[in-house]
Amino acid sequence: MLNGSTMRYQGTVYRPPSEAQSLILQATLGCSYNRCTYCAMYQDKRFRPRPADELTEDIALAVAYHGAENVRRVFLADGDALILRTGRLLEILGELKAAFPNFERASVYASPQAMLKKSVEDIRALEEAGLPLYYTGPETGDAVVMERIAKGVTPDEFIEGSRRIVDAGAKLSAILLLGIGGVERSEEHAHGSARLINAIEPRYVSTLTLTPVPGTPIHDEIQRGELVLPDEHGILTELRSMLAGFDLPRGAIFRSNHASNQLPLGGTLNKDRDALLATLDHVIDTPAFPLRPRIDPRLL
Ligand code: SF4
Repeated sequence: MLNGSTMRYQGTVYRPPSEAQSLILQATLGCSYNRCTYCAMYQDKRFRPRPADELTEDIALAVAYHGAENVRRVFLADGDALILRTGRLLEILGELKAAFPNFERASVYASPQAMLKKSVEDIRALEEAGLPLYYTGPETGDAVVMERIAKGVTPDEFIEGSRRIVDAGAKLSAILLLGIGGVERSEEHAHGSARLINAIEPRYVSTLTLTPVPGTPIHDEIQRGELVLPDEHGILTELRSMLAGFDLPRGAIFRSNHASNQLPLGGTLNKDRDALLATLDHVIDTPAFPLRPRIDPRLL
């Protein structure tokens, strides 16, 4: 029996910063892959799709808690709800449309494994049903780094999966992680990431800075001295190489303003690329430039 007084969530719930105003609906729990070496988000959860009756109850709770007219956007959690069968996702989107009269759209995290299981036609059907926005994290485009962080795919496979979203006409938001190649592969990470992004042509590109979370394999590697992270100057230089390599003539929104970034930056590519590079050059050449303090990973 639902009393409608509160929402219910299982475990810690994560969503992209831009989904702060969206209803979070746990279509799945955890991440079906759950092996990326830097990710602590779903270590405490075993992956499973939510049973249909539970999800229907959650939607009823959201109607009671927020009011049916007030829910316009929905983020389908947890880590890669896109892994659900296309037919099941279409059912969920149908339920959302029926429950919320002002429903505009849903969005979802998309692991490469999930994207590679979908066809362009699947994505087109999902987009038409109300799922036009997908968030994905290649983190790097360098094959060596991608293997070290255990993404489970190669850069070319990542491009193939991502292109299915883009070719279907849906919006893709791609996230890169500054510092993840360490000092050793910083240049390769920057160049490979630019190559990957240019091939994918996502609508949004963002760069976050790696903030190693205790308990993750990458944190252990850093503790053992096997991975040495670039310092502030190294991170800015890496970002500069990446930005200089981006070539997105069809346009993309670029953001490097996450709490983990010491220098907030943003603009439209390619239009603002030269201005962004000039800002970065100025900051790199000004050692006293006041950067934001590094963030405690527990606050992310
Ligand atoms: S696919 Fe995403 S959620 Fe899953 S382990 Fe990797 S980074 Fe974490």
